[in-house]
Amino acid sequence: MRSIDIHAHVTPQCFWRATRDGGNWHTLTREQDSRGREVLISGDQRGQLPPKASWTPEQRLADMDSLGVDIHVLSPYAGFYNYNLDTKIAIATSRDSNDEISQMAKSWPDRFAGLATLPMQDVPAAIAELERVMVQLGFKGAMINDHINGRSLDQPEFMPFWKATEQLGAMILFHQGGDTIVSSRIKRYHLPNSIGNLAERAITFATLVMGGVMDACPDLKICLSHGGGYTCQGIGRLDRGWETRPEARAHTSQPPSAYLRRFYYDCIVYTEPALRYLIDTVGVDRVVFGTDWPYDMDFDWPVSWILSLESITQEEKEAILWKNLEGLLGL
Ligand SMILES: [Zn+2]
Repeated sequence: MRSIDIHAHVTPQCFWRATRDGGNWHTLTREQDSRGREVLISGDQRGQLPPKASWTPEQRLADMDSLGVDIHVLSPYAGFYNYNLDTKIAIATSRDSNDEISQMAKSWPDRFAGLATLPMQDVPAAIAELERVMVQLGFKGAMINDHINGRSLDQPEFMPFWKATEQLGAMILFHQGGDTIVSSRIKRYHLPNSIGNLAERAITFATLVMGGVMDACPDLKICLSHGGGYTCQGIGRLDRGWETRPEARAHTSQPPSAYLRRFYYDCIVYTEPALRYLIDTVGVDRVVFGTDWPYDMDFDWPVSWILSLESITQEEKEAILWKNLEGLLGL
């Protein structure tokens, strides 16, 4: 069966080349830790890079073939958001990353499509880069963090970005980068990732809905990675808060649950009951295939996993694996 992966990252070859032998890529460097693993150093942030992150497009294609994945909708590695750095650096790294993804999509148009990274700390610069990739490079949208240096995306300064995104028809994939909301509470046990990612996504859903962004931009296309995090499990409490507290309904005329079907959700939830619940809550036409290639939390055999699920019908498997994204992104 055909499959299109919305959640597949690229750590561009231009980064690996520039940082070889201790060099830097727009001030970013890398080093090896005591166990020989590659570590990205970007300002005061460090990010671990898995072995597959340095693979060439040809090596990636061979891996996609072995996994049974037809198309990667490529997004840059989240360690390259660079929102914490000087805007000029973020513009330069965004352009380099996006240009390399564009080259991959041009070289293998049947296998790759592109999501950009954007210098979100400067909204006009982010809009300019989004326009460039959508109009000149044929991208499908962009991947951004759940917050920009602590500011969530319902804040007024981001409204021009949402208007431009809607007008350009770009899809925005929300994906954590660096510290999450959990990081300041506890850093042990990998919880900033395994709980933090899911909490961040629920906050993104709630703030875009309750901040009025979804009402102001009715044609926005937004995909929440990791199954939307805790959004679906927590929707009853969000609705209850909206009913009982005036500050929760200041910007919306409908309860949060009325907006669930305005978003798309990738299938990275790891268990069959969780995926079944997601489908039953948001509708199968809103659930899309994603893998998180090439990170250690990705699925071992993502297509095989979907195909093996007994509580998901054949029609639902087809919708998730490729039909929904084919229609949404024109692939
Ligand atoms: Zn990811």
